[in-house]
Amino acid sequence: MKNEQILGLLNPLIALVFAITFFVFWWKYKDKSYIIGISFAYLMMGTGFLISHLAADVNGIAHVFGTNFLFSMGVISIIWAACYRSNLNVPLGLLGLLPILGISVLAYVHFNPIEFNARLFVMNTAFGIMFAIGAVSLFKNISAGPVEKLLFAMFVLMALQFWIRPISTVSPEGSFDHQGYRDSFYYSVLNATIALLALMLALSLMAACVVDIMAEIRTKTENDLLTGLKIRRVFEDQAKAIFEDNSRVDLPMAMILADIDHFKNVNDNFGHQVGDRAIAAFGKLLREQVRDSDFAGRVGGEEFCIILWNANAQTARLVAENIRYRFSQIQIAGLPKNDFLTASFGVAESRDGDDYDTLFKRADEALYASKKNGRDRVTCPLTRDESSLGLEPAT
Ligand code: GH3
Ligand code: MG
Ligand code: MG
Repeated sequence: MKNEQILGLLNPLIALVFAITFFVFWWKYKDKSYIIGISFAYLMMGTGFLISHLAADVNGIAHVFGTNFLFSMGVISIIWAACYRSNLNVPLGLLGLLPILGISVLAYVHFNPIEFNARLFVMNTAFGIMFAIGAVSLFKNISAGPVEKLLFAMFVLMALQFWIRPISTVSPEGSFDHQGYRDSFYYSVLNATIALLALMLALSLMAACVVDIMAEIRTKTENDLLTGLKIRRVFEDQAKAIFEDNSRVDLPMAMILADIDHFKNVNDNFGHQVGDRAIAAFGKLLREQVRDSDFAGRVGGEEFCIILWNANAQTARLVAENIRYRFSQIQIAGLPKNDFLTASFGVAESRDGDDYDTLFKRADEALYASKKNGRDRVTCPLTRDESSLGLEPAT
């Protein structure tokens, strides 16, 4: 067996191994549907390579049209998968149209006596344009991380090789007909390049899958299942880091502590499950009401903490009032109709020299005052600006 022929068999083998590997990945993480797209793409490409290598007649319908159809499906799936992974739009219509156009041109030159070499450019050009379209879509998300940059670079490389390789390999060869196809310089460079690039692309996509799966595992261990908020340990670590960052820019920061009122009664009278629902409802409310720049966590059973960045006590008080009011309007399933729960809040604004613990202590004192003064209220100690104006503390 000649070297070229061994290389020719390497491509289908590599592609099929990746099809199986990505399928197993998808089987384990079925919610990541883009992974099945990658598996399908490698299955299509592997089958295409196999037919391309084994078809008895290089000029036959199976070789000319079958392989190009399979490669087109593979390229569309890869582009779809890479874009869908990052929630990017892909012009699927245009991507579908290009191979149809390419195969139509191919059909024309196939059934009309045109030089064999000319045909080699048709599908290569179409695939190059398809990868370029994919690269344009991926470019929008390039700042998201190193994996996104890597995938973009791979797509650009794929597009370039589909344009440069045919030009540089067909021309030095001079004209060859279909009988000389498998012995040609073009064919061996094609196989070597595609083997290498398919491998590089698969490894980049594999890296993307690993990054996504690790991010999911991290979210699961850092976030509380009931509320979707950060668990106490993670919240405190991140909150302390926010304080350190802020000491450099020195913007005002505020903290809100919240505790659901008479929660033991809920558990005792209506069961733990109803209590859980109330905690989940509070968590959902916080996730909806807290700005992206702010940060909320579940710091106790039915106790929550929010750090507001670039906000003073007045702003934090309004946020807390809003959450207090909204929570008192939520009908929790399992509680009697019109029986609403309430929560108490303590607000504190950062002062010079504050760290997470000192601010937490003041917010906790304010929360305690809310509980002592009748619950279902927000307590916000006077800020220095307000005391100089002679204002009353807000409760
Ligand atoms: P107060 O108005 O003074 O806050 O009264 P309270 O009854 O809410 O008192 P406290 O904050 O001490 O009670 C918290 C209760 O929350 C005690 C605990 O059984 C319950 N709890 C803690 N974690 C969970 C949980 O995950 N689910 C449920 N259902 N209950 C929890
Ligand atoms: Mg409590
Ligand atoms: Mg409570």
